[in-house]
Amino acid sequence: MKTISLLGATGSIGTQTLDIIREHPSEFTLAAISVGKNIDLARKMIIEFQPELVSVQDYHDCNTLKAEFPTIKFTFGQEGLIETAVYDKADILVNAVLGSVGLHPTLQAIECGKVIAIANKETLVTAGHLVIEAAQKNNVPLLPVDSEHSAIFQALQGEKEKNIERLILTASGGSFRDFTRQELKNVTVEQALNHPNWSMGAKITIDSASMMNKGLEVIEAHWLFNLPYEKIDVLLHKESIIHSMVEFHDSSIIAQLGTPDMRVPIQYALTYPDRLPLRSSKRLDLASIGKLHFEEMDMARFRCLGFAYEAGKKGGSMPTVLNAANEVAVAAFLEGKIRFLQIEDLIEKALTAHQITTHPSLTAIQEIDKETREYVHSLL
Ligand code: NDP
Ligand code: MG
Repeated sequence: MKTISLLGATGSIGTQTLDIIREHPSEFTLAAISVGKNIDLARKMIIEFQPELVSVQDYHDCNTLKAEFPTIKFTFGQEGLIETAVYDKADILVNAVLGSVGLHPTLQAIECGKVIAIANKETLVTAGHLVIEAAQKNNVPLLPVDSEHSAIFQALQGEKEKNIERLILTASGGSFRDFTRQELKNVTVEQALNHPNWSMGAKITIDSASMMNKGLEVIEAHWLFNLPYEKIDVLLHKESIIHSMVEFHDSSIIAQLGTPDMRVPIQYALTYPDRLPLRSSKRLDLASIGKLHFEEMDMARFRCLGFAYEAGKKGGSMPTVLNAANEVAVAAFLEGKIRFLQIEDLIEKALTAHQITTHPSLTAIQEIDKETREYVHSLL
């Protein structure tokens, strides 16, 4: 029996993690969860899973729930996220919170020796060097949940790092795959939220439409698999059936395939190095799919991907700025404050204005994250 603490339980990855726990009650138990502001859903989860510890975003919600569930421990805010992440009875932390708020809790959980199943890519983008250093120092496994990284991780089982020629991350192209830049000027939030293949949280759906999601994933792959950016490529593959590939020196390519269902990589992270059946997931029927398509990535069309490669290669505090600017810009787009293409403009301005800090500490990262958010807000 593995005991899990789950950050971001009410989100898209969070609820699918609960599906996995529900499907395998004799394998997994849930000890602690964090939620944000969705208290109605949190209530249902508390009743169903009876976690011992629950963290919410706001103090007020914490008090409300305390009164309703007197036997459960409640906590709130950033401290609450940390308390959930390090909860002593849990063996595994599933980090499915959104954004760089996940960084400090992840570092603390690593210090406590928890196995980390990481969906929260912003944490790896904003401070990958700190997370990787801490994981190595504490001998803690970092298991990818993101489907591309899970695919690569699966393709690398039994392989040696020295034999890797390159990683090939596949990209569906998102909601606006077939739009020209002219057409992108007037797209709406509703159109952007309509992803052709995957059902995900709002922020990552917008990131997929802008291709920033793939940019963040390139940086995530750089840290998880310890490879230079020159060895990480992106390929358009509109069906999202091949979740990613690894090419080796001998020209062999190993790919992982499946229907687009995040429960598969979530479960693999939870069962690794073993596997469990996942009866509720649809089997891949290649004969009925018939054809798979691949296209080279157009970097001029998807500027955010270029920004991410550039920020990643410059390193230091640049990816922190990229991520923070993107988080603010995407939130502003979702709130109807800016147009879609202004997301890119804001990120570009933030990157241009930034004076790089090399090998930033946690405090420096937190400070740069905050300053970048303030700077982008000032441009809105
Ligand atoms: P969602 O927006 O669906 O969920 C985010 C979760 O985080 C919710 O539980 C939300 O709480 C909580 N949350 C948000 N902000 C805060 C905060 N400031 N403090 C505390 N809790 C907070 O996101 P997704 O599930 O889509 O994504 C989560 C992470 O996983 C992201 O990093 C994303 O990039 C990554 N990921 C997601 C994939 C997907 O298919 N969805 C695929 C691969 C990676 P509440 O809703 O209660 O307010
Ligand atoms: Mg992904």
